[in-house]
Amino acid sequence: MEVGSLRALPDGRWLLRRFGRRYVLPSELGRRVDAGEAPELDALFSMCADRTQRRSFGPRWKRTVLPGKIVVAAADRVQAAASWPALLALTTAGGLAIALLQANVRDGVVHPVVVGLLVAFCALAHEFGHATALIRGGGQPGDIGVGVMFVVPVLWCDVSEAALLVRRDRVRVDLAGVAWQIGAAGAAGAIVSVWNGPSAVLAVKAVLAAVAWSLLPLLRTDGAWVLADLVGLRDLEAPLPRDAGRRRRRAAAGVRIVAAIVLTLVTAALPWRLRGVAGLLWNGPPGVDAFATLALAAVAVVVSVALGRRVAGLLHLAARDLGCSSLWPARERPRP
Ligand SMILES: [Zn+2]
Repeated sequence: MEVGSLRALPDGRWLLRRFGRRYVLPSELGRRVDAGEAPELDALFSMCADRTQRRSFGPRWKRTVLPGKIVVAAADRVQAAASWPALLALTTAGGLAIALLQANVRDGVVHPVVVGLLVAFCALAHEFGHATALIRGGGQPGDIGVGVMFVVPVLWCDVSEAALLVRRDRVRVDLAGVAWQIGAAGAAGAIVSVWNGPSAVLAVKAVLAAVAWSLLPLLRTDGAWVLADLVGLRDLEAPLPRDAGRRRRRAAAGVRIVAAIVLTLVTAALPWRLRGVAGLLWNGPPGVDAFATLALAAVAVVVSVALGRRVAGLLHLAARDLGCSSLWPARERPRP
């Protein structure tokens, strides 16, 4: 039977890829598998906790744009740009360029295609930031692609292996995307503004809104990953291990409550956002407007219910972290 591909990690453990899944092997076991002296495979896979699934959940609908091989080859060459000082420099220089741009450009004609291209370029830079930081930490990124999350189109990068890194390097993977995005916006915005300032300014505003959104501690955003990594959660909706200490329980409950509050605010703002979208898209005959309003109301209800369930789940987990699970007593299970 085929074992899969095996690779030594910097800390002595081994990464085993098998049928599209990843397993982390302790060093001793990894050595034996590598030497072809593996124990019976089923026992092996039940022994290795599959720790790398955390980032595999993402957009509901997704398609690959750049295969992992290309991402690795490109990101590997610019590894130095994912060091902590480089990330800080990118954010500072990008932020300054953006501020200068916004202060110096007057109103004028905006070219929507230019704005779209600039925003897409910066989003791609964001994903390459994650990939490069992962390589720098010793992991290997996968594909980059497009997807749809709820109703929002997004770019994604498979950085599942971030789960294998130490905490500091995991947080760097989380933050590198935003740093690269701000750096790219500053550089590209400055170049484009030479030819068309108003388009550059509008694109940069859109990029800043996207950055702010990524940093919100929602469920699958970079801000959420930072919080989860800081308190040692697999993700914000994952339970703590049974042996977690009191401080870690409190910290986990804290970040879950913060995420629940932000999610509630976003859910509450949704109908107004959709009304704004409706106003932009439809200005036709009253019949069409009524239909569009109904359709958007339906979307708002479905998304609100889904988000409300997540909020309830987060609060439930926070209560359990704090040891007040008696609020929701466990259902009796029949015993044999
Ligand atoms: Zn990101």
